[in-house]
Amino acid sequence: MNLIERDAKVIWHPFTPQKNRSNPIPITHGKGTLLFDADGKSYIDAISSWWVNIHGHAHPYIAEKLYQQALTLEQVIFAGFTHEPAVQLAERLLKILPGNFSRIFYSDNGSTSTEVALKMAIQYWWNEQQFHRKKIIAFKNAYHGDTFGAMSVSDRSVFTLAFHDLLFEVIFIDTPTNENINNSLSIIEQHANEVAAFIYEPLVQGAGGLKMYDAHLLERLIATAKKNQIICIADEVMTGFYRTGKTFASEYVSLQPDIICLSKALTGGTMALGVTACTDRIYNAYVQDDALKTFFHGHSFTANPLACTAALASLDLLQQPNTVAKVEWLVLQIKNFSQQLLLLKAPIKNIRVLGTILAFEITSGKDEYLNNISQIITQSALQQGIYLRPLGNTVYIMPPYCITEAELNKVFEVIKNIVLQHE
Ligand SMILES: *Cc1c(COP(=O)(O)O)cnc(C)c1O
Repeated sequence: MNLIERDAKVIWHPFTPQKNRSNPIPITHGKGTLLFDADGKSYIDAISSWWVNIHGHAHPYIAEKLYQQALTLEQVIFAGFTHEPAVQLAERLLKILPGNFSRIFYSDNGSTSTEVALKMAIQYWWNEQQFHRKKIIAFKNAYHGDTFGAMSVSDRSVFTLAFHDLLFEVIFIDTPTNENINNSLSIIEQHANEVAAFIYEPLVQGAGGLKMYDAHLLERLIATAKKNQIICIADEVMTGFYRTGKTFASEYVSLQPDIICLSKALTGGTMALGVTACTDRIYNAYVQDDALKTFFHGHSFTANPLACTAALASLDLLQQPNTVAKVEWLVLQIKNFSQQLLLLKAPIKNIRVLGTILAFEITSGKDEYLNNISQIITQSALQQGIYLRPLGNTVYIMPPYCITEAELNKVFEVIKNIVLQHE
């Protein structure tokens, strides 16, 4: 049996309809932006393997650090023990995070980083004995992960349909525009004394279709939330580590959150790791004589030394001057390409860019995730050596920062070919 046949017998893939499954592509190895399949064909990973990979695949520097750490300490319980990679990573993250963060809480993926943030915020008010403050404000169209709490504060969509009755009630406000902002501000004011926290993906709503909105609108929402002591949670799981052109998307806004969530590119896309950072305001509510006010949360692999080591190695690479220059170059190339797309006579709309992210909609077909235009485009791009995975009719790229000029131009060419085909 080959790998596809063996896979078909035992594996259940994520986000994948199980009836009439299409065959997954066996990947044998990766190098830089390239993924190689079992037939030796290569694909440029134009979406950074679900937005996680920023330095390229099988990076030798990260691999070497991981190898050394694996020979030293691979895992240790993190309650009652500590280790150098976890402490050093916390120290380095606190130096680069925007705002006044003072504590790092580790978990092991993006969904757990937002779960931790929500629990931290809700228990903050419980510890403060303000029991009426437990509601969460979130954006329509948001995506904060797939576990129950994260799902609850995410948009009610095809992803969550089977669970709607079981999700906790959330006050949803519109993704901000100049037209709806006043309404959202008054919703915040109106519910202020029952609200624990406001959670948002700063400037780009990722899985909700790469919708982008203005920093000054977010700033007004945060200002109103802060005025009412509402805890602000920035979910930077997707936007962190230069994805939007700045180290964190929150840097586009002058008001900083009380809690920030990181994952995806945190380890350069190598290992699973989640971070929830908070300020002293939050942390101090847990420094209490009453043991019932402890934050009773943790995972077996909390602060896994290998994952922390990968994150440290990724930070080393990110902090090299040529990486920053490369990101700036990429931002410019993507902006120029968006201008070329504007001039193209093709059935596309809403061409938008922020940093290293470009997105637009193909106007043939319906705006729905289940629309099969996504699969058609994915197949067509794969045949041309590019890996894309549109969200419904939203086509986007989010390349690793190590992408070469030739590779990037090939991605642009293939995108042009594809959109022109759909005329
Ligand atoms: C991907 C994502 C998550 C969930 O992260 P997982 O590691 O997939 O659980 C949460 N928030 C945002 C903004 C994301 O893009």
